[in-house]
Amino acid sequence: MRERLFIDGRWEWPALGGTLPVFNPATEEVIHHAPAGTAADVDRAVAAARRAFAGGFGATTGAERAVWLEAIAEGIAARRDELARLEVLDNGKPLPEALWDIDDAAGCFSLYAEMARDLDHRQGEAVAVPDARFTCRVRRVPVGVAGQIIPWNYPLLMAAWKVAPALAAGATMVLKPSELTPLTALELAAIAAEIGLPPGVLNVVTGTGPEAGAPLAAHPGVEKLAFTGSVPTGAAVMRAGAQAIKNVSLELGGKSPFVVFADSDLDAAVEWVMFGIFWNQGQVCSATSRLLVEAPLAGRLLERLVCEARKIRIGDGLAQGTLLGPLVSRAQHEKVAGFVARARAAGIRLVTGGGRPRDRERGFFFEPTIFHDVPQDAELWREEVFGPVLAVRTFRDEAEAVALANDTRFGLAAAVMSADVARARRVAARLRAGIVWINCSQPTFSEAPWGGMKQSGIGRELGEWGLENYLEVQQITEYTSPAPWGWYLRK
Ligand code: NAD
Repeated sequence: MRERLFIDGRWEWPALGGTLPVFNPATEEVIHHAPAGTAADVDRAVAAARRAFAGGFGATTGAERAVWLEAIAEGIAARRDELARLEVLDNGKPLPEALWDIDDAAGCFSLYAEMARDLDHRQGEAVAVPDARFTCRVRRVPVGVAGQIIPWNYPLLMAAWKVAPALAAGATMVLKPSELTPLTALELAAIAAEIGLPPGVLNVVTGTGPEAGAPLAAHPGVEKLAFTGSVPTGAAVMRAGAQAIKNVSLELGGKSPFVVFADSDLDAAVEWVMFGIFWNQGQVCSATSRLLVEAPLAGRLLERLVCEARKIRIGDGLAQGTLLGPLVSRAQHEKVAGFVARARAAGIRLVTGGGRPRDRERGFFFEPTIFHDVPQDAELWREEVFGPVLAVRTFRDEAEAVALANDTRFGLAAAVMSADVARARRVAARLRAGIVWINCSQPTFSEAPWGGMKQSGIGRELGEWGLENYLEVQQITEYTSPAPWGWYLRK
């Protein structure tokens, strides 16, 4: 575990010498003191990123950058088990899920290595212009210095989603991980150093949102802001970026619906609904936290969900067989418990769970929780809980299902399940969300666009869309005619 910040290719003590306690959420013990960066460290990091960009990284070819990206992918893969264990200690998630994240993070760097190479082939594409005296070509050039701010729910994977496309594009960056989960981002920096990524290309400044995130968002030396986190913080980042007209992309929260028609296979519905809300303890931006079930299936589906939810093995993420670990922090536990308490006080029907498991006195554990007949105007139906809490209600027909599903300020993800594929596809096309799953929930591929409509964000990450986040489009128009232009200087 690292004690220093990674700035300009070196391990640096934070300017003010502060530290952040890092808790193991399964035991509540402090396992480390991470460096607490502040504005002065952000300044140094941005200056290093600017030097690296101007000093050559911005002018490297995609093929050159692909070599670094592949080496980082290999570096992550080589330390797979160690990184996964760190992620569990830091975030609490079950080890098999952490291993998944590490594999996905390595895969993300490999994918962007390919894309960096492709970028070279796409440079200089011609644009047809209606005047034969000119040729017009398009280049894609790196955006400059990126400030990247990420949350705690997938610490290394969220870093990969931002760092890999930025490197592929030729941008340089300052990454600010969540103060709750700073460990693996610092290890990513260590891997970058080991593989010889030039100093200043990737800088990692750990610290709190107000002390390190806000100065990064407001820094005049940053051209691009890429943020993942909550809506209020996203709005603050956007405001900070507005001052200097920064290019801002936002991946924010959600309250995603899962529409299940009565003809669905019951086992499949149980499996995907549970995965959609209970994996990663429900701390998933795209969690399908609102279940809309067609009335004739509601009784049977709910009964099975309750029965299966009670069987979920809750425990330390490192213990064999754990399916649900602790929430990330005491504050998150209190936040989720607050939602549940207010829903109960409002008389909403709790059908299972609702609090700390009886056999877990320590650790930020919370039972898989299900509420039924949740009113459309209830806080529980409208706001993101970010915990293992499912809100259920029934619908009578397709039109009502679509209307209920879309009645939200969010638009990150949505899912629909039906044995009638034509109907499922029809409904999918009407759902106002950036990601729509048919007959499943949550599968995520680095090749496909990720991001939300409405208040769930601006822009898309992953795939070619993620690369575009870090590229500027430049037209180069050339006068190629031997004849003089002859506007002022007529012959
Ligand atoms: P958060 O908004 O509290 O914090 C996110 C990051 O912003 C952290 O690094 C934090 O330190 C930093 N930050 C806080 N205040 C800041 C400020 N004033 N200026 C700049 N940075 C600041 O979110 P969180 O609790 O870490 O994460 C949970 C949220 O993230 C949920 O809403 C979830 O839906 C969302 N999320 C979205 C996606 C997506 O892809 N759309 C993915 C993961 C998480």
